[in-house]
Amino acid sequence: MANATFSQVSTSIFEIMSTLAREKGAENLGQGFPEGLEPPELIEAAVKALREGSHQYPPMMGLPALRKAVADNARRFLGLEAAPDEVMITSGATEALSDCFLALLNPGDEVIVFEPVYDSYAPIIRRGGAVPVAVKLTPPDWRLPFERLKAAITPRTRALVVNTPMNPVGKIFDTEELGFLAELMLKHDLVAICDEVYEHLVFEGAHKSLFGIAEIRDRVARIGSAGKTFSVTGWKVGYVMADPKLLGPIARAHQFVTFTTPPALQAAVAAGLNMPQAYFDALKQALQTRRDFLTNGLNTLGFKVRPAQATYFAVADFSAFDSDGDDLAFCKRMVEEAGVAAIPLTAFYENRDLRSHIRFCFAKQQTTLERALQKLANWGAPQ
Ligand code: PMP
Repeated sequence: MANATFSQVSTSIFEIMSTLAREKGAENLGQGFPEGLEPPELIEAAVKALREGSHQYPPMMGLPALRKAVADNARRFLGLEAAPDEVMITSGATEALSDCFLALLNPGDEVIVFEPVYDSYAPIIRRGGAVPVAVKLTPPDWRLPFERLKAAITPRTRALVVNTPMNPVGKIFDTEELGFLAELMLKHDLVAICDEVYEHLVFEGAHKSLFGIAEIRDRVARIGSAGKTFSVTGWKVGYVMADPKLLGPIARAHQFVTFTTPPALQAAVAAGLNMPQAYFDALKQALQTRRDFLTNGLNTLGFKVRPAQATYFAVADFSAFDSDGDDLAFCKRMVEEAGVAAIPLTAFYENRDLRSHIRFCFAKQQTTLERALQKLANWGAPQ
């Protein structure tokens, strides 16, 4: 018998839209993977490590050089202090998230998630026997709804999942929002699982982590991903940074989920994290140029898009084309008729109750973005 959680989970919308895009020969601005930004230094470091390094199980917690590089990078860019032994390497942020959910939640615990919410959280939270409780953020500002959040806390609440910078809306949680979360965590004895995979892809404002708030530092598991920082989403190298009290149980989950991550890729990511400031500045600049190009192009066509503060994503209100439209139906028409794939935002809401927005990924080659805008212009976005 299949288990109740996963027999009810359908194929993800990202997979569905990518398959449709392939079938239709469409421009795929759906799935959030970057094109043409992989740093050659990183690839060379991986080749060297494959030729000269070990091919056997590396230490369970990760290569010492990478654990140190993660700690050093967080100090350099975010001013966060963590010892290398407060860092554990995982097979992508997805594994890190699963380890945290499996290690920190007990059956019956409630976990606050903020909608629109990344799709991998809820199924694993449920499989761990805990219950995701959604608190909705709404357009156009996607501010944390302080009162609704307070009202969602019950005696069973155990954890918050905080994704900042936030996929899909490109928002950064500001100091006031983080301060509010920290107060709630102290008042209600909560932990936070912080998904910060877009920590280096910030165009406006500064990314701040709950891990940097001294009073709650020992309640925070901070997660990152080399996939985003180095535009190598297929590599699946991630990490968790946490106080030893939290990291201990998370490591015990990790030892039975994947145990380790390919050593050559770990060595290369260590070299990447130690690269000079110029690499990180150039990455941001390249993505910001693409963000501006796609955002302006979509606005000219009649979508309503605000420039994202961070991430890979432009979230567009399509009401000018389809005033009481359904985002999923609109995305299906757009891929079939216009030849451009995007993701309906309802994929990030449990009850599909905000249907007016779709997500485009701008981390693509300039030529891909140009072709996509041209195809949308030719389509004339039917009324
Ligand atoms: N969290 C968020 C918010 C993401 O957008 C992604 C990637 N799309 C992940 C986690 C997964 O990261 P990884 O590929 O390192 O598992």
